[in-house]
Amino acid sequence: MLVDQFNRRIDYIRLSITDRCDFRCTYCMAEDMTFLPRDEVMSLEECLRVVRVFAEMGVSKVRITGGEPLVRKNALWLFEQIGQLPQISSLVTTTNGSQLAKYAAALKQAGVSRINVSLDSLRPDTFKQITRTGDLDKVLKGIAAAKAVGFDRIKLNTVLMRGVNDDEIDALIEYALRHELDISFIEEMPLGEVDHQRVDTYISNEEVLAYCQQHYPLTPTNISSGGPARYWQFDGSPSRLGLISPHSHNFCELCNRVRISCRGELFLCLGQDDKVDLLPILRAHPKDDAPLREAIQHGMRIKPEGHDFDLRRREPAVVRFMSHTGG
Ligand code: SAM
Ligand code: SF4
Repeated sequence: MLVDQFNRRIDYIRLSITDRCDFRCTYCMAEDMTFLPRDEVMSLEECLRVVRVFAEMGVSKVRITGGEPLVRKNALWLFEQIGQLPQISSLVTTTNGSQLAKYAAALKQAGVSRINVSLDSLRPDTFKQITRTGDLDKVLKGIAAAKAVGFDRIKLNTVLMRGVNDDEIDALIEYALRHELDISFIEEMPLGEVDHQRVDTYISNEEVLAYCQQHYPLTPTNISSGGPARYWQFDGSPSRLGLISPHSHNFCELCNRVRISCRGELFLCLGQDDKVDLLPILRAHPKDDAPLREAIQHGMRIKPEGHDFDLRRREPAVVRFMSHTGG
């Protein structure tokens, strides 16, 4: 069992399998991103080895993320292999949906039970403005394909930005209700240098909640993912509303997760720089997992108590982008 220095049990890893993406969302990436050279990125075999060792140490939930996980060549192989690890009871993924029409059935077959799809707008022009390169129609077709193959739950993730897409709360909720999907609104986090000041577009989830409670019948739930999300049930519907509030709601005391970047960095907190480099250990000891296990245990001893995002600071809290850490 993995337990950190603050006695929190870590049973959930989020693994980024690529820093690359076919979108360039304004809050997530710079327009002219440079991506990592191939040999600095873990091979899929190395990714599997890391997941297997974590699983043997007590992790039961894995989220595959990125960048865009479905643009990584042969990503499906990794999903299939992780799906067969006996300790893993929950295999989930976060995607921008652009490749879902092609992969939804195979992901389900590999053992993925739930997926999160990012969807910030239902207006083609706003969608294009936010993602810079994305095609809304393709994503909606991907969501429809995912719905058709019957995942346990599909959740939309929406980063709300004032003056950009905050007038679409109703349209997005109605879309979610119509298709029996969950929807989470996410506060933008100060990760990586982007071309706008995040404080200018910041909307507190308290404001979003007050709006939703006025307009929709909602019942609070005690569903907990051990993360920053709180959930409400839309009465008379299977859909849930989630609010992911790193600024207005502190969640660190319940933290049950660590993140592994595609470069093999074990990041211990989304909002802090503390990390352990696993890739040199993986490559120096291809046949012996003991040094890898020791490095992971070291991570538990240095996992910070929490983050301190503060939007009033003009510089990002950490300089790496979410696509580097893995969202
Ligand atoms: N490409 C996939 C996607 O977009 O769903 C998976 C990776 S993406 C980094 C994971 C999630 O992080 C997305 O829902 C995205 O909206 C969110 N995200 C990225 N940068 C963010 C930021 N600065 N603040 C809040 N959420 C962010
Ligand atoms: Fe790509 Fe996801 Fe980041 Fe958008 S949020 S640029 S889709 S990794």
